[in-house]
Amino acid sequence: IHATFSPHYNPKKEMEGVVVVLQDVTEQKKLDDMRKEFVANVSHELRTPLTTVKSYTETLMEGALDDRETAMEFLSIIDSESDRMAFLVRDLLQLSRFDNKQVRLNITEIEMNEFLMTTVRQSKIHAEAKHQELTFEPCDHPVIIYGDRDRVGQVVNNIVTNAIKYSLEQAKIRIFITEDEKYYKISVKDTGMGITREDLPRIFERFYRVDKARSRAMGGTGLGLAIAKEIMESHKGRLTAESEYGKGTTMTMWFPKERPELEYEHEFKTGG
Ligand code: ADP
Repeated sequence: IHATFSPHYNPKKEMEGVVVVLQDVTEQKKLDDMRKEFVANVSHELRTPLTTVKSYTETLMEGALDDRETAMEFLSIIDSESDRMAFLVRDLLQLSRFDNKQVRLNITEIEMNEFLMTTVRQSKIHAEAKHQELTFEPCDHPVIIYGDRDRVGQVVNNIVTNAIKYSLEQAKIRIFITEDEKYYKISVKDTGMGITREDLPRIFERFYRVDKARSRAMGGTGLGLAIAKEIMESHKGRLTAESEYGKGTTMTMWFPKERPELEYEHEFKTGG
């Protein structure tokens, strides 16, 4: 609550009373705080890799360049830190396009059994590297959703990658489709580390990570789920999470069965 006090005087300059204006600024303050926190986060996320790039570059210029092996090692650090900054900027730009309603979706019918089969094939390699079992259980009938293939693929990749990243070796990751009257639901269920009840509602926030150091080391920007949620909402769908700490997590993408009226759709084509 914001309060302003203005004294009220009579013609003899004697104070007669005070006018108090009370203003509920909670919402405004919350937005302000969120914006400040976001800017602080962006600055920090960019400054960290930038500092690394700068210090390795200086060391190279001061003579380390003469030792070929050291030089190669430093250059590869500079290269991966630059990648990190590039990923961050790419994700920030995509979020800002959603914020400004500048996203144009290229909507087509997508048959999800076939689509998931191909998308999952690429992730299998990463799961196998961690000795995890990644399975897709197709539906016995065609599942048609209306979506932008690139964007839908991005969400699937993001949640499957997270399932792999936040699960230990030998974990099992299942991808399956269910439905109710109105929605097709694509779920990715892992037997990984899980998320506590307190953290769960916050994982869709920009830059929120349960374990900052750890997820950064694994190469995430902390924006993946925030973007995935925007993408699902732009498709008139939803992205939800259920989790039990220490047991595992299930992320579910909801797609309306009926072709939705989209706000900023580019064009509509039938067929793949
Ligand atoms: P990041 O780039 O850190 O992976 P995301 O936006 O994709 O960012 O995810 C936000 C956070 O949610 C992650 O840092 C992680 O703590 C948590 N998270 C996401 N998916 C899972 C999962 N399947 N199991 C456990 N934690 C998860």
